[in-house]
Amino acid sequence: MDGIVGVMRYAILADIHSNLVAFQAVLRDMEDKGKVDEIWCLGDVVGYGPEPHACIELLRQYEHICVAGNHDWAAIGKLDISDFNPYATQAILWTRKQLGAGDVDYLQNLPQRTKKGDFTLVHGSPRYPIWEYLEPGWLTTEDVEDNFNRFDTKFCLVGHSHKPIIFQQDSSGRYFVGGIPSEIKLSSQNNRLIINPGGVGQPRDGDPRASYAIYDSDAQIVYHYRVNYDINATQQKMLEYNLPLPLIERLSYGY
Ligand code: ZN
Repeated sequence: MDGIVGVMRYAILADIHSNLVAFQAVLRDMEDKGKVDEIWCLGDVVGYGPEPHACIELLRQYEHICVAGNHDWAAIGKLDISDFNPYATQAILWTRKQLGAGDVDYLQNLPQRTKKGDFTLVHGSPRYPIWEYLEPGWLTTEDVEDNFNRFDTKFCLVGHSHKPIIFQQDSSGRYFVGGIPSEIKLSSQNNRLIINPGGVGQPRDGDPRASYAIYDSDAQIVYHYRVNYDINATQQKMLEYNLPLPLIERLSYGY
């Protein structure tokens, strides 16, 4: 896609998952920190949570780009859901009934990957953008190395695991994994990076607060933030819609 000209600030959001209350809290936090020119959304706008239509509608009010997640495709029947667990399946079948024609059209047209300046954006992983989890426990060394070969920019942004994490590859091709610091300095960076900002609507790293990042193209820094939101408000709506209890409970614990 297009490059980056001038001073720009981008919010990097992944896995909103129909959690409008969390999404709104992140947007407020983002706006408190200054003007953001564009939102980069890493997919799974819908699925699991109680407000799929409202989340799509709110995202569309912002200047943004978005790639497709597995739940986005499952919600419109573009992906077979036989591999989904029973709770995710139940939530997807419910989600399908909440989407309007405009929502379906929007999700239908999301690309699997896109590029913005030095960044490649995908939901899962560079080689399998819809499905693969870039998590240390799930992948062999070869799998991670292969993923670094599947994008040609210096940096790649992913979601899907709902866990803030960075994979770094040094000039010899070796890689290592770590948690996200509050500031990732890109200008002094010799390594290629795959960065997951964590999940907005269903964090899974043991911290229930919403997780997101802001990239400042002038400072060449990615800032990582956690945001409190009214978890109970989302849970009440999920109860009201009879969404699966384990999906409701997990929000309290961030797993
Ligand atoms: Zn997700």
